[in-house]
Amino acid sequence: MQVARAFAQRSTCDRAHVGCVIVSPDFQMVYGYNGALPGQPHCDDAGHLMVDGYCQRALHAEQNAIIKAARTSGVSLEEATIYTTHYPCPVCTKMLIASGIRRVFYHYAYRPDLDAISDAMMRASNVYSIIMPLEAQSELLLDLGGPRWIDPSTSPT
Ligand SMILES: [Zn+2]
Ligand SMILES: [Zn+2]
Repeated sequence: MQVARAFAQRSTCDRAHVGCVIVSPDFQMVYGYNGALPGQPHCDDAGHLMVDGYCQRALHAEQNAIIKAARTSGVSLEEATIYTTHYPCPVCTKMLIASGIRRVFYHYAYRPDLDAISDAMMRASNVYSIIMPLEAQSELLLDLGGPRWIDPSTSPT
């Protein structure tokens, strides 16, 4: 979770500083944070692209991590675990479930109305979500035993 929080600080949309790390069963990792498409202006520079109270410019952290797995890392997310600062929105939840992710560790609720939808989707697909108190300072990632980092310089953002 400390790694997820570290990447959250790289978010370039200040509406939500979200970061995440997805760990596959063979300890490969992909990370993501909330930010603009590659080569396009970030919210911090160009302002938000607001529609109905949501910023449409930024890709969510979870989406960036899944994209990274598909595009540059070739990591299967079957049976993987995600550590994310915020509870996934419904769109990200659908992508996480469809990617094969089985467990979701998170620190913060996102929005009660949306969280209820995400929660129902996860339950229907037997995906476990576990809240982790901030003060826990979990070393879970380290417990996984010598994780192999994906080269951060190949980040999609
Ligand atoms: Zn934004
Ligand atoms: Zn999302």
